[in-house]
Amino acid sequence: MGYKIEFDKDECRGCGACTFCDNWKISEEGLAYPVKKELEEIGCNQDAADICPVNIIKIKEI
Ligand code: SF4
Repeated sequence: MGYKIEFDKDECRGCGACTFCDNWKISEEGLAYPVKKELEEIGCNQDAADICPVNIIKIKEI
């Protein structure tokens, strides 16, 4: 069992709030992306989802 990240990139504001978590980076176009979309451990990704002001990071169990 693990976790899968679903992320609605088109709605990203590029605020950078999620990047406190190592799995989230800002691309050259100024939008966030997850380094890994499938994870064994949820780690800081749930906190990144919770902190996102437009609520576009979803984490599913797989
Ligand atoms: S916190 Fe949300 S809106 Fe801000 S950069 Fe991350 S994904 Fe984009």
